Amino acid sequence: MDNGIHYRTCHLCEAMCGVAVEVKGGRIAAIRGDEKDPLSHGHICPKAVALQDLHEDPERLRKPVRKTSTGWQEIEWDEAFDTVAEKLHDTRTAHGRNSVGVYLGNPNVHNHGSLIATMPFLHAVGTQNRFSATSNDQLPHMLASLEMFGHQVLFPVPDIDNTDLFICIGGNPMASNGSLMTVPDFRGRLKALKQRNGKMIVVDPRRTETAKQAEEFHFIRPGTDAFLLMAMVNTLFMDKLISPGPAEHLIKDLDLLRLSSLPFTPEAVIERTGISAETIRDLTHQLANTPKAALYTRMGTSTQTFGSITTWLAYCLNILTGKLDTVGGVMFTQPAIDLIALGAMAGQRGHFGKRHSRVKGLPEFAGEYPASTMADEILTPGEGQIRAFVTVAGNPVLSSPNGRRLDEALSGLDFMVSVDYYINETTRHADIILPPTAALERSHYDIVFNMLAVRNVSKYSEALFDAGPDSRHDWQILLELAHKLEKLRKGGKLPIRSELGWRAFKQAGPDPIIDLLLRTGPYGTDTGRAREILEPATSLVMGLLPKHHPLRGLAKLSSLNPQWQGLPKGLSLKRLKENPSGIDLGALRPALPNRLFTRDGKINLAPRRYLKDVERLHQQLSAPDSPGELLLIGRRHMRSNNSWMHNSRRLVKGKDRCTLLVHPHDANRLNLEGGGQAEISAGGRKVVLPVEITEDMMPGVVSIPHGWGHDRDGTLQSTASDHAGASINDILSDQDTDPVAGTSVLNGQAVTVKVWQPKQQRISA
Ligand code: SF4
Repeated sequence: MDNGIHYRTCHLCEAMCGVAVEVKGGRIAAIRGDEKDPLSHGHICPKAVALQDLHEDPERLRKPVRKTSTGWQEIEWDEAFDTVAEKLHDTRTAHGRNSVGVYLGNPNVHNHGSLIATMPFLHAVGTQNRFSATSNDQLPHMLASLEMFGHQVLFPVPDIDNTDLFICIGGNPMASNGSLMTVPDFRGRLKALKQRNGKMIVVDPRRTETAKQAEEFHFIRPGTDAFLLMAMVNTLFMDKLISPGPAEHLIKDLDLLRLSSLPFTPEAVIERTGISAETIRDLTHQLANTPKAALYTRMGTSTQTFGSITTWLAYCLNILTGKLDTVGGVMFTQPAIDLIALGAMAGQRGHFGKRHSRVKGLPEFAGEYPASTMADEILTPGEGQIRAFVTVAGNPVLSSPNGRRLDEALSGLDFMVSVDYYINETTRHADIILPPTAALERSHYDIVFNMLAVRNVSKYSEALFDAGPDSRHDWQILLELAHKLEKLRKGGKLPIRSELGWRAFKQAGPDPIIDLLLRTGPYGTDTGRAREILEPATSLVMGLLPKHHPLRGLAKLSSLNPQWQGLPKGLSLKRLKENPSGIDLGALRPALPNRLFTRDGKINLAPRRYLKDVERLHQQLSAPDSPGELLLIGRRHMRSNNSWMHNSRRLVKGKDRCTLLVHPHDANRLNLEGGGQAEISAGGRKVVLPVEITEDMMPGVVSIPHGWGHDRDGTLQSTASDHAGASINDILSDQDTDPVAGTSVLNGQAVTVKVWQPKQQRISA
């Protein structure tokens, strides 16, 4: 790459910050924020240095490797592809298509090439045993969106730049810069909110970095947010505060929701939540009486035993108080590549519970089973048992509950392949690792996170460095494997048309698809004066077609779509290349009822699966706590994102961040000392961690960050190993799931904590 400044989107987290990368002598000399980026305006966080560190990491694999009795051995790509395809095909032939399992990690959604190639790859593998990080994260949001708005990825996003009241429950955007809300420079945006006399309220079991900036903060017991939100719904009805505003004519089953909330008065939930009735009423009145307000719930509320109900109720509260589709409330985005409209056009709005997992009977969501049951499906004999496994950019050993059991399961597979450039806690079990190019060696377009951004923008980044002839992008790896698998399935030869199709796809890559989607999307080709003729002609043809004819969908995708009139036009890949800092497409706009995809055009406030689970919530209202136990929650740090950046020395340096946070009362009771070691255990699983005593924790609650635990043998990430920490998932049970969505319970599991004594001391004592 030429010397000079190159503009790009940082792909490391959801925030999509614009970066200006200075290259000198073929190397990165500096990474700064791009002032001209229309979303991030020059903001970057300390993690941005990892763009360089990951790129230059000598431990990043550059060629395929195979495991041998004497260690890893480099092999050529052709040999690697042939071996992997044959092994997967043989397993499938001998034991059925579900004997191959696939896990897709979180970095895939930051990679348009991988996203586009994943579909043909999964089709070629043909398995129902598919898993991803979704069920350890945002699955309840996807389910609520499907149930209420008719589309699994249609998320209401807080209009943070215009709101006057931001209520944040179980989220920490000061550390994350948003999650399911792409909001680079949350700190700066919060400052602007305060300057317009706005206010932030935070509810969390920990006084987080975000909570420290809030005007109002309330501790809540982990796993009890559903009680709080149900009591807020109850208050809305009791105090006659229901005012749905723009959604008024779209909602249905309001009375069913009212009936389900009746037992959950603010007084009834005090003991469960630890929040006073007065506070609950005040919170509800503030939300209802502030015209521009947004209630936002995140990770802490979705990965818990009542994650589904909690998310549903948060959606309901925004709707009932008139915040949905209102400027300053929660709004739907209009991304330049509209996967939501595309999915709807193809009849892919999402599905849930079409089939159930073999061992535990957990429901599928969008074709995936919950990650918490991966080990069951590998370890339990019988038809459909997973014998061969594929991971793509994932480290589920550290990110899924009961990581040690998954470790054991993966070690017993007949065959495993990983598409990854690190030998980490998961990929060390692979027989072959296929390393893709580093992110700076490929182009970048954020398909997913533009659907979640607090402002509509569009940006394409060209590859910063040449990949080199002996390297492969993720999409090339996936397409090559898919092609070979299809060929093997057809006896070694494909029909000529199919063969030509595969070759053309592999030759072109994903960027022409991005261009096509941009041109046919909401901000695409401007038909100009021709529109005057085309529009009535299109309406005429559409009027003649049956209601569900596929051509109707095509019209929705074109620039003739009436919903997309009035938007800026002319977007294409060429135009984005001419504007390397990105193009601003404007603030979020009201979009209802057009953006609703339910079959009856209504928002269902009381889907049956949630009402059914309210019975469980009701039973728990008076359930006694287990005495003496502490409740465990996770946490995230600004300098870390899951497990995959811990080999950057600049990110892990400094004070140990993988510690157990404990309130002074609990530390006192348990004789724990700050800096001393504690043993944290549950169900025979245990870890040892340094203790950090802080009043930021709610009494009775302890916290461990996620993504650590690099102490396993056989990895090749020496910096990460030097800062190993312990994995929270080595304690968490994989048997605890939210029964509605099947999401892992990662917050609120009970643990026992005691002073750790090394074995030697214990014997002499
Ligand atoms: S917040 Fe940090 S890691 Fe995330 S996109 Fe911005 S610079 Fe990158």
